[in-house]
Amino acid sequence: MSSLSANEDCLGWAARDASGVLSPYNFNRRTVRSDDVSIKITHCGICYADVAGTRNEQGDSKYPLVPGHEIVGIVQEVGSNVNRFKIGDHVGVGTYVNSCRDCEYCKDEEEVHCVKIPVLTFNWVDDDGTITKGGYSSYIVVHDRYCFRIPDDYPLASAAPLLCTGITVYSPMIRHKMNQPGKSLGVIGLGGLGHMAVKFGKAFGLNVTVLSTSISKKEEALTLLELIDFGNNAESDWCDWDGTWMVCFKYLEEVTAYVSVGWGCP
Ligand SMILES: [Zn+2]
Ligand SMILES: [Zn+2]
Repeated sequence: MSSLSANEDCLGWAARDASGVLSPYNFNRRTVRSDDVSIKITHCGICYADVAGTRNEQGDSKYPLVPGHEIVGIVQEVGSNVNRFKIGDHVGVGTYVNSCRDCEYCKDEEEVHCVKIPVLTFNWVDDDGTITKGGYSSYIVVHDRYCFRIPDDYPLASAAPLLCTGITVYSPMIRHKMNQPGKSLGVIGLGGLGHMAVKFGKAFGLNVTVLSTSISKKEEALTLLELIDFGNNAESDWCDWDGTWMVCFKYLEEVTAYVSVGWGCP
């Protein structure tokens, strides 16, 4: 099979400086190794990490920087050792593309906690010394271990946000058994993560309440997300404060589990 990783045949959108402005950028992906999968990217979600990375908010951005770590697409090439995937499969790649594969966490399929720090999908130094470039690009080459199957009948566009945002809220919800109908879920902040938490909560049959400092989110919660059956206590289900997030936390005394997730979480 001819290699699809010829010189600079990958078209990405890259930030060149801390302005965060993205522009077309042609670059090279590595040639497919024996354990690699090459994926034609069809969709990529937008995460705040993308914004922060392009703007060098953490002071470690390496330009040109191609963001994107909610990647979905179609397998277009596989290495000789790859048995889990074949050409044409629908797959996704999340926030990391490599790890040591030898520590206790990697052996327990918890690579995100790898003791040597997993290689993040963009703006990170990979094992070959190159800087990883993310999913705002036409294709990506990754070790098949960091590639996940997406059901053929699941819309790829809808699958993309699950690769970072989705799993970030799904994982603690499952850990705390917040998938049992009738339980109550409070979501502080209706941003990207909060949005997905509400969707999961509804899907699991939970009583979902959004807590927000911004009344502007109310309409979105009630209409776009069709937030819960408000019944006879519509107003009391919506809490709006002018204060800081800390004001919200006093209510946590009344809940049984509190999980803080996402960018800038306390
Ligand atoms: Zn993310
Ligand atoms: Zn490891």
